[in-house]
Amino acid sequence: MKKIFLLTILISPALLSFPQTIIHRDPQIEKMVSQVSKDSLESYIKKLVGFGTRNTLSTQTDPKKGIGAARNWVLTRFNEFAKQSNGRLTAFIDTITLQPAGTRVDVPLVLGNVVATLKGIDSNDDRIFIISGHLDNRRSDVMDRTGDAPGANDDASGVAAVMECARIMSKHSFPATLIFIAVSGEEQGLLGANFMAEKAKKQNWNIEAVLNNDIIGSNNSSETNIIGNTKIRVFGEAFSIQDTGKAALNIRNLGLENDGKARQLARYVKETGERYVDNLEVVMIYRNDRFLRGGDHTPYVNRGFAAVRFTEMNENYYHQHQDVRLENGIQYGDLPEFIDFEYLRKNTCMNLSNLANLAKSPSLPQEVRIETKQLTNFTNLNWRVPKSGKAKGYYILIRETTSAVWQKKIFTTDTTIDLPYSKDNYFFAVQTVSEEGNEGLPVIPVPAMK
Ligand SMILES: [Zn+2]
Repeated sequence: MKKIFLLTILISPALLSFPQTIIHRDPQIEKMVSQVSKDSLESYIKKLVGFGTRNTLSTQTDPKKGIGAARNWVLTRFNEFAKQSNGRLTAFIDTITLQPAGTRVDVPLVLGNVVATLKGIDSNDDRIFIISGHLDNRRSDVMDRTGDAPGANDDASGVAAVMECARIMSKHSFPATLIFIAVSGEEQGLLGANFMAEKAKKQNWNIEAVLNNDIIGSNNSSETNIIGNTKIRVFGEAFSIQDTGKAALNIRNLGLENDGKARQLARYVKETGERYVDNLEVVMIYRNDRFLRGGDHTPYVNRGFAAVRFTEMNENYYHQHQDVRLENGIQYGDLPEFIDFEYLRKNTCMNLSNLANLAKSPSLPQEVRIETKQLTNFTNLNWRVPKSGKAKGYYILIRETTSAVWQKKIFTTDTTIDLPYSKDNYFFAVQTVSEEGNEGLPVIPVPAMK
């Protein structure tokens, strides 16, 4: 009897799901994470809700109501944060004039994204990391531009996370550049994100990651009675629309269908976010977005950038895209009273830790190769030092072909390694690591030419 009892304890799923891990946190990032404030987040959301509606088609001349007043207020906050940045943070409203098009824009429209840029201090480092949320919102009827639409969760929660990261991070300097953006036109068809992503593509920006936050503050689904604030979803697709022809053939030949840019970023975000934020699990969803839904990361994904979407674990459709009303005893509408500010705080910390870890990392290892000269059960990887930043060394990442996440990280200061793991049975990647332990994004090796 005793033996059976012992066995039950040993294979308890709860124990298996919390394996021993060694956590090394960068004290600077840990400190920034500790500064994320529930009160700040709440004050941003309540202020944004106070603009009545933030529909993209709403007034731009009323000083207190509508999208114009809302974006001016965000700009003012960014400019306040800029004062503590020694001139590194600059902000402006990036506008584009759109003509009536499609079914969701029926008048000529000046669309404005509020963009704050924290310039990197390493002039050799051209990397850009973006955090995004959408300022605009909607009622049940997406064309209704006058009635009140609070949009506390969709997506004042995302904008609040963007602003709080800007407030804290603008006091610090990073080698790479960070862009904090409050986008317009999401509900009218991802208009602001398309404008920004197209500009980035045309101007050849070296964007390594886009973290899009949309609906990240509520902890429950009324329909299914699920309540919980310990999980956040990261949506990241396997490979992008550009992976056609030769690229698609390569993915198939090397079995890399689970190693595209967005998927790789999602994996990184999970590891780093869970390192810095207690009681938060980042749940990878193997999709670009929710079923048949869209978001502001997609225009970046469609142009070949690595972009993911964060959304709460349990969405509540009584509160999303609904006019505020009481019907059959149910309160509809996206009101601030339905936000869990502790949950939003953790999700903001998760974003901040990822942005900081990325922006502090050395740039990518160059020419990462896997040797294929002879048939062997060993795997040799080799690479060259990063273009910018000082790498203390490199992590070799290893996972089984069926594993969602990297399982082993081997540290080396060399630029070549022989591993007693067969390339037939495992996937590998190499990432740079700084003196403080900040890792860059993993790079998948390509076969060395014979
Ligand atoms: Zn949204």
